[in-house]
Order: sequence, then structure tokens, then C-alpha cells
Amino acid sequence: MQRLAIHINGIVQGVGFRPFVYNLAQHYQLTGWVLNNSQGVEIEAEGDSPTVSRFLEELSFSAPPLAVIEEMTVNLVNLRGDTEFIIRYSREEMQKTAWVSPDVATCSECLGEMTDPADRRYRYGFINCTNCGPRYSIIKDVPYDRAATTMNTFPMCSSCQAEYDNPGNRRFHAQPNACPECGPAFRLLTSEGTPIACDAPRKTRQLIAAGNIVAIKGIGGYHLACDARQEQAVSQLRTRKIREEKPFALMCGSIERIRQICDVSKEEELLLTSSARPIVLLTKKSDSDLAQSVAPGTDVLGMMLPYAPIHWLLLEEQDVWVMTSGNISDEPIVYKDQDAIKLLGRIADYFLVHNREIFQQSDDSVVRITGNKRQILRRSRGFAPQPIKISQEMPSILAVGGEAKNTFCLTRGSFAFMSSHMGDLENMATYEAYLAAIEHYKKLFSIEPTLVAYDWHPEYLASKYALSLPISHLGVQHHHAHIASVLAEHSIDEKVIGVAFDGTGYGCDGTLWGGEFLIADCTEFVRLGHCKYLPLPGGAKAIKEPWRIAAWVLYNLYGQEFAAFDIKLSRNLSPGWELMVQAAAKGINAPLTSSAGRLFDIAAGILGICHTIHYEGQGAIELERAGYKQYGQVLPYDISQASPYILDFMPTFAAMIEAVRKGRSVELLAACFHETIADAVVTMVRKIKEDTGIQKVVLSGGVWQNITILEKVVGILQQDSISVYTNELVPPNDGGLAFGQAAVAGACIRKR
Ligand SMILES: [Zn+2]
Ligand SMILES: [Zn+2]
Ligand SMILES: [Zn+2]
Repeated sequence: MQRLAIHINGIVQGVGFRPFVYNLAQHYQLTGWVLNNSQGVEIEAEGDSPTVSRFLEELSFSAPPLAVIEEMTVNLVNLRGDTEFIIRYSREEMQKTAWVSPDVATCSECLGEMTDPADRRYRYGFINCTNCGPRYSIIKDVPYDRAATTMNTFPMCSSCQAEYDNPGNRRFHAQPNACPECGPAFRLLTSEGTPIACDAPRKTRQLIAAGNIVAIKGIGGYHLACDARQEQAVSQLRTRKIREEKPFALMCGSIERIRQICDVSKEEELLLTSSARPIVLLTKKSDSDLAQSVAPGTDVLGMMLPYAPIHWLLLEEQDVWVMTSGNISDEPIVYKDQDAIKLLGRIADYFLVHNREIFQQSDDSVVRITGNKRQILRRSRGFAPQPIKISQEMPSILAVGGEAKNTFCLTRGSFAFMSSHMGDLENMATYEAYLAAIEHYKKLFSIEPTLVAYDWHPEYLASKYALSLPISHLGVQHHHAHIASVLAEHSIDEKVIGVAFDGTGYGCDGTLWGGEFLIADCTEFVRLGHCKYLPLPGGAKAIKEPWRIAAWVLYNLYGQEFAAFDIKLSRNLSPGWELMVQAAAKGINAPLTSSAGRLFDIAAGILGICHTIHYEGQGAIELERAGYKQYGQVLPYDISQASPYILDFMPTFAAMIEAVRKGRSVELLAACFHETIADAVVTMVRKIKEDTGIQKVVLSGGVWQNITILEKVVGILQQDSISVYTNELVPPNDGGLAFGQAAVAGACIRKR
């Protein structure tokens, strides 16, 4: 006989772990108990030694699908001679280390019940169990119990309570457990908020089929939905949402339907059907029946499958709906009922609402597969707040992130807790949500940071906030943070060649960096090369209006004469352009930048592909599409021999302009441009490798979302036997910045 005390840390609460342990103990006829505490799960199990060993083995190998066992400690303790195995109840502890599960898509067993006319939850839009349902979005506090969730206002009926109390039931302690008799319900409202008596999901289907826009309350917030095949509905949604060209995300009723519209690889299918159910970026087939205005100017579509029970009730197999975040323009996603009618009433014709409160909003995550690897573009619902394991112990750090696409990160032990996608902090409502989310995370994960890491940019609101905190501060250079995010993901503890190709980030010299070749580890970096500085005529305006910087390039090469060229850019110059380029030439209102992202704007401007952008990265996206499947050649560029190396693409632009003037194909030139950038990156890496002997290369920054460049560079470097590392767990864009800041701060503290 022996008795073991077992402590398990990880995602073991709210995932059916206790009933699993209970049933396993029953199976092996062991005695003892299992208990959820704030640190995870505690077990004491007693029986004859071989049986106890088998129990222990199965504990780790047959754990429920959503459980993540991060750490298990086992100790022999004195025999107690219990007569049965019981489940004990939560007790508060001083240190909370239990994890909070992300929201989980409806499981197949629940779907089976929901579509069974004989089941008591037939067509019930809130069905869930210990393996599925809302988690993070409804949790107010830990430990995770019904009283600490927004389900606390729904007392269970006797049938639900019986399931909840029965360790043999698959809803044992499923905190959001509910049924039509006792749980939340859907209602359909007019755009003024007047209730309409009807079968809400059925009526919603009819309304969408008739071309209406319906705001639908889901898991992490409201969606705006319409039929993606009806041009009038989709373009109306664009007009009302003030979203001119940015592609809309789509939800299909089945994976087969997605396959009719897009190419889907095995990896992409796994991602689409995973319990996180992100939006997956897929390549559109040429013949689709979608409305033109779903995704103008791109062949890439963001597709997802239903993930909440209500989605399954709404969409039939052949349906394709636009399911875009319920917000106006760049505002944060609407998730509170009192805001919905007020903010979305102008956009939606109807509202499908429910009375289960969303405590924390989260947008849909966006992921894609490139070369069999995962690239996360937005890490939010379904992923956050699941922590990311880091190889070294960290003190408690708050990393505040950047300005656009903001996320923040809190660390404790060897884990980084990344927030869900917050958005652009310049927006007041987003900034307020950001401050609230930081406090919520601190409470949920019991982290009181002793140090705050921030970006050097003096105008970032996150940085100003960081500097206002009465704890130690550590500034982290923007591109160092990007590179460090990859180092921490891959546990690389040595110097690498970091290629940070990005929009703009604050540099050590007060200019805006963004085309950087660094030698870096997590504690420090040296800038061995960068793209040549160019002015941003008109400052931030130049980012929204790529024609400005393109015009400056032409002015620089040809003087005022270029205005008479018979090319699209010259024909479309805005009034006042002369003053603008002359001022820029004198350095007036034209901050210098080495940004690689701006090179794509210049190319898009020169080729007449994109004059003014309506969403971030549009120039680069349309340029990439133009060059898709074309075979370009490398155009001239220069690398100075001085230290640091200066990478100059003016010769590239000159060659492109000459070619455009001769009437060469814009598509071919777009391909040549990509070929040239990739070739230049590879050449720079080879030079730096020769100079330093470093064999590992890290690619991070927003430009690496350009798959054409990424695949070319990775392909060539791997042929050179260079190891290439990219972001797979956090975004390469500024959504991953906080993770890198935390990694740098942790490493610096360790070194002290
Ligand atoms: Zn389920
Ligand atoms: Zn019930
Ligand atoms: Zn950046």
C-alpha cells in the first residue's frame, strides 16, 4: 500500500480535470481526494503500489483535451486509510497560480445534443460542458467557480444542478452550465432596441437572407453580420461602418463551404477546426460567388468556422456570412449591451442579443500558415490568456507594448501572460479598456509587477503610462524588442543576426527606424546595418498617403520635371506637392526614417498601385498581390561599405520608374521589387555572417507578414545552411512587441 500527494499546475481548472481524476480513482478503486486550489489541482491517492503507479501514469497521458499539465510533483505521504475517493471544494490561498483557460469552441458532443430534437438542450444557443464553452470572457476572478463568473446571475434548475454535482457527468462543475429553463436566452431587437417576439435565431437567418445587417452578440463581443454573397448588403456595411477597403472576415457554415471558396491545406484545416477557432487567412480560388466588396484588391480571405453554439444555429452548411468586429472604424469591439444600440444602431438593422454578460472583450484571432509554420497576426480569442512558456525564471514584469495593435504582457515564474488584442491606444476608448485589462490580468494571475518595460517612443501612450508607475522602469528599443520576441519564443540564448523589417519604431538616434540589421541577444544589440534614411514628407501623413514619399523619391531623382512624366503618380499629384517635396528636401516637417515598410509604399506609389491607403499595410498588400505568380528579376541596389552598412534602394526605384515610363508591366515590376528586397536582405545577412561568424538569423517586424518576401528570404538562407527563426507564438507585428519587451527586461535583470 502507498499514498501519494500529487500537485499539478497548468490549465487544470474549468477543463474537466477533477471529474477526470475522480473517475480514474474510482476505476482503480483508490481512496483519497482531489481538490482545486488557486495553484492548480491537489490530489492524494491511496491504494496498492502498482495500481497507484498506473493511476499516476494515466493522469498525465489521458488528461482531458483542454488540460495542459505544466508541472506535476509527486510525494509519498503517510497512509490514511480513507474509505472512499472524494472531491473536495475550492479553498482560497494567498498565492494564486491557477491558469484561466481561453474561450473554447463548442465540442462535438454538445453539438450532437443541440441538434437532437429529443434532447432538452435542442437548439439551445448556450450549450456547453467541461470541454467547451466560454471561459476567459466570463471570468471575473479566480478561483474559477460559477460565483466568480458572469453566470452567477443564473441559478441552475434541478436538472442542471444534478449534472453539475455528478462527477460522472460531463457537465460536472462546468461553470457556465445552463439550459433553456434556467440559463441565458437570445432576443431579437430592432435597431432602436425594441424587442421582436419571434424565434430569434430563425428570424435572424431570414433577415440576413433578405439583405439586412444584424449585430450579433457572441463570445468576446458583437459581430456585424450580413450575407457575403449580396453586394448591396456588403457595400452598405462598408459605408455604415466607415471601412472603405479593408477585407471583411467571413464565417462559413462548413469546412466544405470554405473549400469551395479557398484553397485549404491540411495544416490550415487543423487550424480552422481547432478549439481556438481563429480567422485563418486563405488564398481565394478564382471563381467564387462572393460579393466584390468583401475583400477588394486582395486574393487573401479571412475565414472562420462557427465557434459559439449560436453560430451553428444561424449558419447552415452552404452559408457564407461577413462576420466583422462590431465597431465603427478603429474603435474597440463593442461588448457591453448598453453600448451596442448606441454605437452600432447606425450600422445594424437588427440586434441579436443575449443576457449573459461578457466581462472581458476579445476580438477574433487571425492566423495563417506559411511554409508549414504558424504565423499569428492577431493573438486574441481562443489563445489569450493562455501563457507562453519561457525558458528562464522571470521576475514579475509588466511590458506595456507599443501604440498600434497593442497588447501587453505580464510575467511570473517562467510564464508570460499576453493580453488579448487591445488595438490602437491613440483611441481613447481603447486606451481605457487597456488600463482596465491590465488591472484585470494582475488580479486574475496574481501578479504585482516590480518592473515595467516600455518602448522608447516618447509619444506612445503606453510608454507615458509606464513612466507614471511608481516601480522600476526599463526602456526597450522597438526593434530590439521585435527580435527578442523571437529569441524568447525559441529559447535562443546567444547572439543572432536580427533582421527587423518593420513600419516605424523609435531609434537610438531619435529617428524612426524600421529597416534594421542588428546583432542581438536578449540583453543588448548593435546596429550593423540599416536601410538608407528617407524623409517622411508631412510626417505621419506620409504613412496614410504613400504618394507623398513616392513623389519625394521622384523629385530627388529628376527634380520638378517628374511632374510631367506620363505615369499615374505624376498625373495624380495633389495641389501643394511642390512645397511639400521642397520642404522635405530641406528637412522641414519630414522626419527621417530607415523603415522598410515605407519602401513598399514608395514602390506602390511609383507603380500607381496605391495612392492613398485606407488601412494599415494596404500599399504592401496590393503590391504583393500585383506581383503574385510573376517571375521578376533583381533590380539594382547599393550597399555602402561603411560601418554600419547602408542599404540603398534609390537605384531600384530609378530602374522601376524608367521601366514604368517605357510602359513595362506593373505586375512584373512589383515582382521585381519583391525579388530585389529579398536579394538585398540575403546579401546583407551574408555580409554580416562573414563579418561576425554568426549563423543564426531572426526575422521579425511587420514587413515579415509579407509572405512573398518571407518565403524567398527563408528559402535562400536555408540553402546557405543558415538557421532562420520567425515568430510562431506571438505576432511579428507590434502585437508581439510586449512579449519581446518582457524578454529583454527579464534578461537584463538576470544579468545584473
Ligand atoms: Zn461541450
Ligand atoms: Zn437548467
Ligand atoms: Zn514594430
